[in-house]
Amino acid sequence: MKRIDLCGIINFIGISFAHSFTLSFGLISCDKIISTFENKKTNTMIVFQPFEDFPTQSLKFVRNKLVKTFPNIQINKPIDLPKQAYNKTIKRYQADSLLIYLGQRTKTGHVTIGFTLEHIYTNMEGKVKYWGIFGLGKKITRSCVASTFKLKGKNKLDKLYKLAIHEIGHTQGLNHCPNEGCYMRAANGKDHFDALHNLCKKCSQELRGYFNRIW
Ligand SMILES: [Zn+2]
Ligand SMILES: [Zn+2]
Repeated sequence: MKRIDLCGIINFIGISFAHSFTLSFGLISCDKIISTFENKKTNTMIVFQPFEDFPTQSLKFVRNKLVKTFPNIQINKPIDLPKQAYNKTIKRYQADSLLIYLGQRTKTGHVTIGFTLEHIYTNMEGKVKYWGIFGLGKKITRSCVASTFKLKGKNKLDKLYKLAIHEIGHTQGLNHCPNEGCYMRAANGKDHFDALHNLCKKCSQELRGYFNRIW
């Protein structure tokens, strides 16, 4: 009961405090607390947050496919890309910064996925400073982002759907999966989405388990 009370207080004070709490006291312990609290909520959903001129049609396509598995999806109105995430030197947006921005706007128990046409990047653990990526997702921010910039070919929307599931998986703590054809396989910078066909049994059970626990 003490844990539930504590999270109620965190929720009251605000998400940003909850994040600093998570960072200060450890991901695992706070995740447990937040999950316990979220068990009592019924309105949890995946929030689609398009940036600027991201086409609504593309969002609807992804929503219509995703809703078969995850029924609670909300599409927000577009918002501006945050200036602090823009790197003028390379003219790309830093994905990590976008996740923090989206996470700050994410209600307790919800997960936000941002959609952008822009080229996004992250730092590859000191190996590559500006690593161009398709998307990024983190459990700690409960947010992820998907970019269409590097997607090629005619079936971009289908690829975007697969990318969206991949990044949402990361927000729920799923790691990259070695199984061929699984949506959680690492892209390693290549547009490999045509070779992905579903979530493997293990990843599917894991992802449904997380969402069932929350919903
Ligand atoms: Zn990934
Ligand atoms: Zn898998």
